[in-house]
Amino acid sequence: MGAIAAKTTISWTGHDGGSHEGELVTRSKGHDVISCDICGFRHALPLPDPAELERAYRENYYAEEKPTFIAHATEDADWAALSYRDRLESFEQLLPQPRRRLLDIGCGPGFFLKVAKERGWSAEGIEPSRQAAAHARSLGFDVIEEFFNRQACANLGRYDVVHLNNVLEHIPNPMEIVRLARDLLTSGGILCINVPNDYSPFQTGACAALSLPQWWVAPPHHLNYFDFETLTGLVNRAGFSVAERSTSFPMELFLLMGLDYTNNTSLGRACHNQRKNFDMALESSGLRETRRAFYRALAVAGIGREAVVIAVKQ
Ligand SMILES: [Zn+2]
Repeated sequence: MGAIAAKTTISWTGHDGGSHEGELVTRSKGHDVISCDICGFRHALPLPDPAELERAYRENYYAEEKPTFIAHATEDADWAALSYRDRLESFEQLLPQPRRRLLDIGCGPGFFLKVAKERGWSAEGIEPSRQAAAHARSLGFDVIEEFFNRQACANLGRYDVVHLNNVLEHIPNPMEIVRLARDLLTSGGILCINVPNDYSPFQTGACAALSLPQWWVAPPHHLNYFDFETLTGLVNRAGFSVAERSTSFPMELFLLMGLDYTNNTSLGRACHNQRKNFDMALESSGLRETRRAFYRALAVAGIGREAVVIAVKQ
């Protein structure tokens, strides 16, 4: 795996007949990652058959691929609530009362729903993983245990906010999902998307400085590799206008400071705990607005571990 020296263009026709074509960026684990001229973002090829993917997520993802995910999410709940509250506050500034109905697509174990409910939102979730949906139910939420697709939309209502947290990097058809989400939104409703910010300056810098492979390239689990520009392009093309961009702590700082956690799970967890300390310390010392301004400024520079976009339906 690594950067491709000579320029190579790859073309591919998907299971749905859709075309993909663009410059080859990375080869990894039997997949090519291209910068797709047609989709407008980097993604893996070949893309899986959506039905096969749905089966894998329903049965296996949390049990086999991410056995520690729910335990870690529980341990991280107080820290994660900081960024969840940031997002909810932005929604509340954009939407007058009583517009407080929210759908969390891929709600996982339900921690975002919990924070939303605490702030007075009516919050529903949809989640294909059996284990994660069961956990969200144990917190008292009605969770539709389904993959979000055209069929599932028929059983959903209308919402003032749709939240897509760590979903779009996993699926073969992000534009279709964003358009379906738009159909569920009320007039002037809000879409909030959170994805990893990949091929960021600090990531590619760390690759060069530490002679590392592109560790973030993880097919078939991560199919799409967005950054702020390509994520903004996607939502614009789907009929949204971006109101806010933000991010989370740039984990690559640890790499650039010499701590290579890419192949070391316990060091990775230790670095994660340090960035949690940073966010929690700013919160407890009354610097919440400074933390928010810091992450918004990093987003302007294209830096930070995640790309968070809050966009208004046009
Ligand atoms: Zn494409």
